[in-house]
Amino acid sequence: MKIELTQQSRRSSIDFSNLPFGKHMSDHMLVCHFKDGQWLEPEIRPYGQLEFSYGLHALHYGQSAFEGMKAYRKDDGAISMFRPLDNFARLNKSAERLMMPQIPEEIFMGGLKKLLEIDADWVPNAEDHSLYIRPFLFASSEFIAARQSDDYTFCIITCPVGPYYSGSVKVKIEQEYTRATGGGIGYTKAAGNYGGSFYPTAQAIKEGYNQVIWTDHKEHKYIEESGTMNLMLLIDGTFLTPPLTDRILAGVTRRSIIQLVKDQGWPIEERAISVEEIVSAAREGRLQEAFGMGTAAVVSQIDTIGYNGENFSIPVLADGKAMEIKRLLNDIRLGRSEDSYGWMIDLPVGEIA
Ligand SMILES: *Cc1c(COP(=O)(O)O)cnc(C)c1O
Repeated sequence: MKIELTQQSRRSSIDFSNLPFGKHMSDHMLVCHFKDGQWLEPEIRPYGQLEFSYGLHALHYGQSAFEGMKAYRKDDGAISMFRPLDNFARLNKSAERLMMPQIPEEIFMGGLKKLLEIDADWVPNAEDHSLYIRPFLFASSEFIAARQSDDYTFCIITCPVGPYYSGSVKVKIEQEYTRATGGGIGYTKAAGNYGGSFYPTAQAIKEGYNQVIWTDHKEHKYIEESGTMNLMLLIDGTFLTPPLTDRILAGVTRRSIIQLVKDQGWPIEERAISVEEIVSAAREGRLQEAFGMGTAAVVSQIDTIGYNGENFSIPVLADGKAMEIKRLLNDIRLGRSEDSYGWMIDLPVGEIA
């Protein structure tokens, strides 16, 4: 691996007590090019500008996918990544569907570990803070023709982050637009999935909501996800989450929370959940809690669901199940409880720069 260190760290110019999400990139990044059918030597270098012309394939045709994951500063000072192999596997799944090359594990994991060692100073140690990690892969040939690219580039950039959402959110059940269709790419973290979601989300925001709940593409009858989070509802004491299909992103947070819920002995069902079921549960006071699950916010409590112009309030409990789950997860991440699942991958302490 080639390593070029920055001459001028930006670390001391960043206010770690006020970190807007995704704004302040750490000093270094990993870059690895794929050319003539093979991966070249990965490189760690100062975070900086793209080196491509305006013919960059990914910009025109959206052959591009990303990941989102986090590293934590444990209470004992060690740096630990949460389930990075799951994100590695998912990026390769996205790559397959988008006709991009598979990334070898030594480039992804080896590059990631080295990058975190070099930028160890950028992993915050305040409560609810972490280092957000953004691996991404994009088509990097420079030609204009709607066919797959020849060259690709894999990168990892990182940024220190604080708490994602302040407070609970108001969501609108989407009845007109769709995020993903059957046979499509909803299950991948393809860049275009997000570009297409901004317009419907902006409409919902105009109507006074924070976010939409996506529904199925055929009838808008069943809920799927909320924004870029998977959904969990607590109805009549049972946790409910939609099952994975090719329209739903298989969240690592979702998978982890399902495991935790099962291991607490709480009832949980992965099954189709109709809008009608939610609305009647809400009317009858049986909808006890609702929350989104994802890397950025971890657990995001929902206080209102809007449907057909009618708003339904949902309890937002400080001592409810959503917050208990968040604490269980965070305790594992920060080394406050035993990681019996083997989810955390620590950076070897001796190697931290
Ligand atoms: C990233 C993402 C999620 C959450 O996945 P995590 O692995 O838990 O971060 C859920 N839905 C969509 C659409 C996403 O892009």
